[in-house]
Amino acid sequence: MDDLEYGKRNKRGDWAPNEPAAIAPLFAFPPRPLAVLKWLPHYFLPYNLLFAVLAVVWWYWIIPFTGLMTRITWLGVIELFVINSLALLVFFGFFELRLYILRAQQTRFKYNAKWPNDQPNKAFLFERQNLDSILRTFGTGMPIWTAIEVVILYCYSKGYVPWLSFAAHPVYLAVLALIVPVIHETHFFLLHRALHWGPLYRWVHSVHHNSVNPSPWSSLAMHPVEQLGYLGVAFWHLIIPSNPIIAIYQLHFAGFGAIPGHIGFDKMEVTEGVAIDSHAYIHYLHHKYFEVNYGDGLIPYDKLFGTFHDGSPEGEARMRARYERKKARANAAAGVK
Ligand SMILES: [Zn+2]
Ligand SMILES: [Zn+2]
Repeated sequence: MDDLEYGKRNKRGDWAPNEPAAIAPLFAFPPRPLAVLKWLPHYFLPYNLLFAVLAVVWWYWIIPFTGLMTRITWLGVIELFVINSLALLVFFGFFELRLYILRAQQTRFKYNAKWPNDQPNKAFLFERQNLDSILRTFGTGMPIWTAIEVVILYCYSKGYVPWLSFAAHPVYLAVLALIVPVIHETHFFLLHRALHWGPLYRWVHSVHHNSVNPSPWSSLAMHPVEQLGYLGVAFWHLIIPSNPIIAIYQLHFAGFGAIPGHIGFDKMEVTEGVAIDSHAYIHYLHHKYFEVNYGDGLIPYDKLFGTFHDGSPEGEARMRARYERKKARANAAAGVK
C-alpha cells in the first residue's frame, strides 16, 4: 500500500497522516447524528467487540473459580495468572511479531521512522526498551491485573457488592456494557491528568514516558502504582451495581486495550489494498509531546481543557502558545519570590 496517499513523510522519515486526528463525534456539540451513525461501527470494531467476547470466554471457560460456588484457591489464582499472561503474550506478541520483528510493512504508516530496539537507551533496564517493557508488563503488570480480577470476583462471591443478573436487569446491564469505553476514558483521563502533576510524574508516570517512541510492549510498561490505578478502573464495578462479566470486560478493555495507542503505526496492512486504522495517533502525539492528549479522544475532554493536539500545524501552534504561556507564568512566579 502507498502510505503517501494518506500522509506525508518528513526528512527524518517520520510519517504523519494528512487528516488531523479526530475526536469521536459521540459527544460533539452541536450534535452530529449522521456522523455518529457513520462512526458507530468503529465504536465496536475491532477492539470493543473482541474485549467483550474475551470477557464472556474468560467467565465461562477460563477463570477457574467462576460458578463462584467454587472456592478461590491459590492454585486457581496461579492458573488464572498463567492464562492471562499467555493471552497477553499472544495478543501483544502478534503486533510485535508482525510489525516490529518481521517488519511486515516496513515503515509504511509508521509515525517514527526509527525502531526503538535498534537504539540502546540508558533510561531502560539493560538499555533495551522492549526488555524493560516486557519485564514490567509480566513482572508487576500481570500480577496486579490478576490480583484486581481475583479481588473483584471475591467481593461478588461473598456478596459484598450487589450482583445484578442479566435475566433480571437486561436493559440496565446492556447500557452499562455499552458505556464501558466511556467509563474507561473518563477514569483514564482523570488518572492520567493527575499523573502529569510534577511529583507524581517524576515518581510514577515518567516510567511510561521513557518510551518516547512507543511500540506494542510499551502499552503496560508502567510503574506499579500506575498499573494499579490504570487497571483499577475495573473496581468501578464494585461501586456501581454491576455484574462480574462486565467488570472483567472493563479490566480487559484497559489491559488488552492498552495496545492500540502504542502500536506506532497509523494503519495495519491486512492485504495489498486493505488496512485497518489503529487509532494510535492521538496517544502517539502524547508520547511525543507529553503535555497534550491526556485522553484517547472518545470524549472531548482534551478539547474542553485546551490540551488537544490533532497533529496539524494549527494544533502544533496551539500547543506552542500554551507552552509559552506556561513558561511565562513560571517565570513570573519565580520573579515574585
Ligand atoms: Zn502511553
Ligand atoms: Zn502521560
